[in-house]
Parts: sequence; structure tokens; C-alpha cells
Amino acid sequence: MTGKRTFAEPYKIKMVEPLKITTREYREEKIKEAGFNTFLLKSEDVYLDLLTDSGTSAMSDNQWAGIMLGDEAYSGGRNFYNLEKAIQEIYGFKYVVPAHQGRGAEHILSLSLIKEGQFVPGNMYFTTTKEHIERAGGNFVDVIIDEAHIPEARHPFKGNVDIEKLQAFIDKAGAENIAYISYASAVNMAGGQPFSMENAREVRKLTSGYGIKIIYDATRAVENCYFIKKRERGYSDKSIREILLEMMSYADGCTVSAKKDCLVNIGGFIATNDELLYQRAIELVVVFEGLHTYGGLAGRDLEAIARGIYEMVDDNYVESRIRQVYYLGERLLKEGVPIVEPIGGHAVFIDALRFLPQMPREQFPAQSIAAALYVDSGVRSMERGAVSAGRDKKTGENIFPKLELVRLTIPRRVYTNLHMDVTAESVIELYKNREKIKGLKMVYEPRRLRFFLARFEPV
Ligand SMILES: *Cc1c(COP(=O)(O)O)cnc(C)c1O
Repeated sequence: MTGKRTFAEPYKIKMVEPLKITTREYREEKIKEAGFNTFLLKSEDVYLDLLTDSGTSAMSDNQWAGIMLGDEAYSGGRNFYNLEKAIQEIYGFKYVVPAHQGRGAEHILSLSLIKEGQFVPGNMYFTTTKEHIERAGGNFVDVIIDEAHIPEARHPFKGNVDIEKLQAFIDKAGAENIAYISYASAVNMAGGQPFSMENAREVRKLTSGYGIKIIYDATRAVENCYFIKKRERGYSDKSIREILLEMMSYADGCTVSAKKDCLVNIGGFIATNDELLYQRAIELVVVFEGLHTYGGLAGRDLEAIARGIYEMVDDNYVESRIRQVYYLGERLLKEGVPIVEPIGGHAVFIDALRFLPQMPREQFPAQSIAAALYVDSGVRSMERGAVSAGRDKKTGENIFPKLELVRLTIPRRVYTNLHMDVTAESVIELYKNREKIKGLKMVYEPRRLRFFLARFEPV
């Protein structure tokens, strides 16, 4: 993907944040204290924090300037109207409901649209999305293409909805029992894999015949648009901004965690053209988040999102962002480290089942690699596998999903490619000495979203 000439960042560094460099002994101590769960490490003990790209972006000088223009009135503050205008212009939706972050938006959306016992088909589950669907009485049904579950399958659009699966499900369940389609961009759990514009059009065509709504999880829509530009015929000359507008035109609305694409540290929203959904959502937002013109955020946060939305569709920025992810991924591939291919938009995912084929799934190979990586170099990654998947609601058994991954997630505009080199060298070193990595057993298991707080010990 990298061209002949170096493509450098379209920004420079004005302020720096020191990082603590620690010893291996220190990190061995800290991972033990954290129950071998990278979520439980203190960030000051982490050298390079690749835990998540969520809320970890560096804001621009323009965003910081906007922070000073926060209108902290309880109601009708000017920053809300700036945000509304940005979303109308860039996403193309008329109605905007702010929320404190993505899951706040998902909570409101699920309660607004789902009736007890209804189904929500989608292109692979996301943890918080599925949780809120279930809490609202719904059932998530996976209708992503089979390739998405195969880490080495090189499909250019692994995030696509399988149209036949979706049709078959509608036939079986009945359209009236489907609350909406939850259609995610740059599908996180599949490794940051995009859907194609063609697929978006097909899903729209199929569902509109039944009057079924499509709600995007547009959290990483910009990164999805980049892959459409690079891989889909007819889009190479279009701007990210144009592609995003077209993509959004095929949905009834979306939820967004602004902590990803939108280049801010906190925030989220629902955006829709559906007046009834909007009305239900604002009735609920005042119960759970705050007034409909701030949704649990300060005026200054709303302003930072509004400004981030214009910056996120800058073609040169998106190019440099995704090229950095590819830079790391391609270094690992060159050394034979098994990763999910194609490389995704926001992260490189190590395929733990090929990395540690001898380790039983009950010993959580991805969790074990994440702990070992921290000890080796102070790089913090996270597990996306059996720990994240949790237990089967009916049988109470551990779910062992096909994908058992370690996510190296790249924050936006934060690290340099030398930091990527440090990360790559550490992963390669671990891979060469992989027989030394010890498995883990879970010694404390929370009942919900267990990956956040679970504790482990080496077996
Ligand atoms: C992060 C994320 C969410 C949840 O958003 P939060 O801001 O973390 O609450 C929902 N969907 C996707 C795809 C995400 O990546």
C-alpha cells in the first residue's frame, strides 16, 4: 500500500507528553498487580499505549482553541448548534442527539427502537452494542460474511453483510420481528474490516422493501471510507468527505463513539433523519444522559467534536493515519508474525491461535500474549477473543469465538513510526520465543463485560 515516496504526517508537534521508560523487573511486578489484565495497568506504567484508539487521539490547536469557547449554559449552548451543523454537513443527517460516549448513544438507540423479543441482525457483534441490544430485550444475530471469521481470508471487504444470510433470516424471523439492522463500519471485532459501498446499497435495497431500518455504527466510518476509496471501483477520485456522505445516505441513522474517528477524548451521538426516532431519543436522553443540547458533555467537549468532525475528513490526514497502521502491520508480516489480513484501519490484530497453536483455548492465548508483550517492552495491547466474548447466555459455558486476537490499536496523531518500530521488534522477539509464553487461568470473573475487570494467574 505504501507508494514509492514517503508520505509524512500533514501536521507537526507543538506539545509533548513525556513517557516513562521502565525495566523488565518493574513490568513483571506491575502485570502481576494488574491480574495479568492489561486493562488494569496504570497508564503511567505503560510506555506505548496501544490498548485502544478510543479517546486517545491528539487534538489539534484548533480543537484546543475551541475548548476555550465552551458555552456552559445548561440549555441551548452555542457549541451544540456548531456540532449539529458539523454533523448535518459531514454526515448528512438532520437530527442530532449528543451522548456522553458511544455506549450512551447505543443505550438510547436500543431503548428507542427495540421491542422485547425482537432481533437485530448485524455484521459481527461489538461488546457494548450487543450488551445494549440485549438489555433492551433484543437478540443480536450475526449476518456478516463467513470470510470475516477467517483471519487469513484476504477479502477486501470482510465487513460486508452476507445478503443471502440476511434474506434467509428475514424470511425465517419475519420482518416485523426485526427491530433494525445494526451495520458497523470498519468492523472492530473482525479486525477493523470495511464494508463496500456496493454492500451498503444492497443492504438498503433489501431492507427498504420490508421497511426495516438500517442504523450504522458509524464509529469508524471515515476509516471505512478510506478503504472504499482505495479498493472499490469508481471511488479513487472521490474525497473521503464525498464518500462518507454517500455512505450515510443509505442508512436511517447512526450511533457514533466520537472517541474514534472524531479525534476527541470524550463524546458520542445519535444522528438520524427519522423524526420519530429523534423524538423518542430526546425523551430518553434527558433521563439517562442530560439535556438534549448537551447529552452528558460539557459545552467545550461538544465544540471539540464539532471541530474534529471537519478535521477527520481531511484526505491527507486519513492517508497518514492508515498508512501508519499498515507500517506496523507490514513489518510484522515480513517476519512471519501471524496477523489478521488484510490489515485493518485502526489496529493490527495478532492471530493468537496461529501465534500459540499449542496453547489450549482455556488458557486464553490472546490474553497471555498481551501480558507477555507488556513485560517485554512496556507496550500495552488488549485481548479480543474468548475473554471478550464472555459466556453463553443459556448454557453458561465460555464462548470460544473463531477469532482469538491481540489488538495493537494505534491512537490518532499520537505516536511516531519509530514507536511502531519498537512495537514491531518486541512482537517479533516474542514470536521467536513463543514457547516461553505462559498460559493464564481466570481467578476473578465479573458478570458483565468481563474483559475489563477480569483477573488472571499463570497456569
Ligand atoms: C468504542 C466503540 C463503541 C462504544 O463507544 P464508547 O465511546 O466506548 O462508549 C461502539 N461501537 C464501536 C464499533 C466502537 O468501537
